[in-house]
Amino acid sequence: MIWITITVLIMSVTLSHTDDFCYDNHHCDPYAWGDWFQSCHPILEAHHSPINLDHSMSRNDSLDALLLDGFNASHTGHWKLKNNGHSIVLEVGNGMSVSGGGLPGLYHTTQLHFHWGSLISNGSEHTVDQHRYPMEMHIVNVKSSHPNLTSALADPTGLAVLGFFIDVNYIDNVHFGQISQLLSSVAYKGEMASVKPFPLISLLPENSLSKYYRYHGSLTTPPCSQAVLWTMYEVPIYVSWSQFKQFATRIFSTEKDEEHVTHLHDNFRHIHPIFSRRIYASKDAKLLSASTTHLYIPVLAVLLLQPTLTVVLIYGL
Ligand SMILES: [Zn+2]
Repeated sequence: MIWITITVLIMSVTLSHTDDFCYDNHHCDPYAWGDWFQSCHPILEAHHSPINLDHSMSRNDSLDALLLDGFNASHTGHWKLKNNGHSIVLEVGNGMSVSGGGLPGLYHTTQLHFHWGSLISNGSEHTVDQHRYPMEMHIVNVKSSHPNLTSALADPTGLAVLGFFIDVNYIDNVHFGQISQLLSSVAYKGEMASVKPFPLISLLPENSLSKYYRYHGSLTTPPCSQAVLWTMYEVPIYVSWSQFKQFATRIFSTEKDEEHVTHLHDNFRHIHPIFSRRIYASKDAKLLSASTTHLYIPVLAVLLLQPTLTVVLIYGL
């Protein structure tokens, strides 16, 4: 009996051991991260991300648009586009920072990256009334008072991440093309491409940047540190279906010379409870109303109880 137990334990450790996290295998996917990164355990009252945004938020009139310093400039030098096996990351060097909008200080912009779905699934991390968008972009900023990322991750407000939903329509987004056109150069894990710096503001919904939601949460990848002030923008970025498809079908989580190549898609963490956290809508953001599902149920009930009215309504339509 003891031997059986030990054998099972050894097998379990052997099968589960990984030095990396993943999204597509139950040994290392987001539900297993807590086994290897204790801080990823969604314990009671923990402030994890992502979350679902819904009507349980309140207006905060002091939340104006953030100051996006350097986002309008064309910086010198080169940015680096990388495939790190979990996402496509654009490292943007120095020269940009964010502040204001209720942030407690100045935050230096370090990188942006993406989360996406597949040809048959949406892949944003946050959801709005349970609706998941096709993609989500995160612009990561580190509080300027910290000498390094390790120090920032120990501070509940060490990072400020700006999150943008990405939706799909029929028109190529020429600005987004500056990234999507280079994806074939970074298809495999470890690959890197040089990017000519461009004004980052061109990627963003420039006229709607005062509309956002704010809450305190975590990194959505290990070590899941509860160190992030999240700013989730209400208005999405739009890209074409073919631009979305390049992410969904042309990126791999494996290196080029690996025997078994694995597509990288659906690289999002599951939704976490809000617990006692407060979620705020900025001064200009739309407050989300109670889910429309609640409104449909009484109407349906009335129709079912009144067959004559149902017939009238159906033929009337
Ligand atoms: Zn992210």
